[in-house]
Amino acid sequence: MTSTSKDVYLVIGGSGFLGRHIVNALLARGDTASVFDIVQRYHDVPFYSGDITEQSSISEALTKSGATCIIHTASPPHGLDDDALYWKVNVEGTSAVIAAAIANKVQKLVFTSSAGIVFDGSNIIGADERLPAPERAMDAYNESKAKAEEIVLAANGNGGLLTVALRPAGIYGPGDRQVMQGLYEVYNRGQTHFQIGDNTNLFDWSYVENVAYAHLLAADKLVDPGPERDPLEPLSLSAEETE
Ligand code: NAD
Repeated sequence: MTSTSKDVYLVIGGSGFLGRHIVNALLARGDTASVFDIVQRYHDVPFYSGDITEQSSISEALTKSGATCIIHTASPPHGLDDDALYWKVNVEGTSAVIAAAIANKVQKLVFTSSAGIVFDGSNIIGADERLPAPERAMDAYNESKAKAEEIVLAANGNGGLLTVALRPAGIYGPGDRQVMQGLYEVYNRGQTHFQIGDNTNLFDWSYVENVAYAHLLAADKLVDPGPERDPLEPLSLSAEETE
């Protein structure tokens, strides 16, 4: 795939599992990308060390990188016993990202939300992006991700910033540090001898490169999304898009 965009990208959380695949996908199509993260794991693109709860750090990275599009994937991982951290990073941090984006006249913000924000413990079949978050979230991670998504979407149009949020379900693939590790830990603890439900439970998984690609498409389509379409109608992809 060759880039048709003229954007310069700042991938927030770009040292992470999904963030790294987004950086790879951007580089593969010839785009310019930098990373903003609290940890550095790669050295092939400009790196800005910082916490998204500090607006000045994000602003500095935006100025130095010249970014016109932010792809914001940063979040503490699911499953921590720290409600305050989720709120601080996902809600306050995402608000700081938006404020920095507007102050620096960034044109686009793509936010990685989560399919978990619409889960209330009961079956969800055939849902689309119109499904709202339940009144009671499953946990602090999902509550904070839902609030962050709300803030991101409400900011659309503010100061010329265009925003979009994606809700991936489980992500798998090379570089994953959560899903497979969790499965191994369960296995090593000998906790594989029970089952929840009648073994017909289903869960959505997406391959990480596809999720990364979805972020690039979302960024590309933000300025000119094309004619409004019924989200329930199947998409017909062009030959280039299916490559
Ligand atoms: P990850 O932990 O591998 O990557 C997250 C990155 O964010 C890390 O590099 C981390 O250092 C960085 N980060 C965390 N707090 C930060 C802060 N305060 N400031 C700056 N950087 C910070 O996680 P991932 O699996 O790549 O997930 C990426 C995004 O996708 C997250 O927003 C997550 O909620 C969402 N998501 C993940 C899954 C999944 O199955 N992995 C599913 C749905 C949604």
